[in-house]
Amino acid sequence: MLVSAGENLHGYKIAEYKDVVFGVCNSTEGAGFRQVALKKMTDNAAKLGATAVINFKMEIYPVSGTTQEATAYGNAVIADPIDGVARVETPHKINLEAYTRKPKTDDSPIGQIHDINGYKFVVCPKCGTKYRVETDEKGEVHIKGFDDVDDDEPGLQVFCLRCGTKFTVPEK
Ligand SMILES: [Zn+2]
Repeated sequence: MLVSAGENLHGYKIAEYKDVVFGVCNSTEGAGFRQVALKKMTDNAAKLGATAVINFKMEIYPVSGTTQEATAYGNAVIADPIDGVARVETPHKINLEAYTRKPKTDDSPIGQIHDINGYKFVVCPKCGTKYRVETDEKGEVHIKGFDDVDDDEPGLQVFCLRCGTKFTVPEK
């Protein structure tokens, strides 16, 4: 099965577009999970009678903790050699290791919790302003009058009223 990240295959013409095909594999299945996802994708393409996959992409998603999931996908096609001569049948060299979950660089700094006279306060990591923290019956932290400003990051993120820094309020 020919696989190309581009929309063309050198020496071939695309005779027929089949469908978008996917292959999914979880990192709990071992270090080769990217290759397994690729294999599942090409297997699905073969089931459609395709001879190649173009526009190949791979995405890595965090599932939980350190577990990741690889999704390989592309357009399954029938590709005919232009001059009738089939070229290399092995997949084009695709560096699957390059498909890695992007490290999160925008994690907000975490404010320190101070206990003052039995009340919990969180301290802005930049300017030191203190905010009173309340914990509800579910154990979730709140600051009166503040909403979570970042749905993508776990936990509660707020903007410091004084310096504007976004920081995370720790649960404990
Ligand atoms: Zn601040």
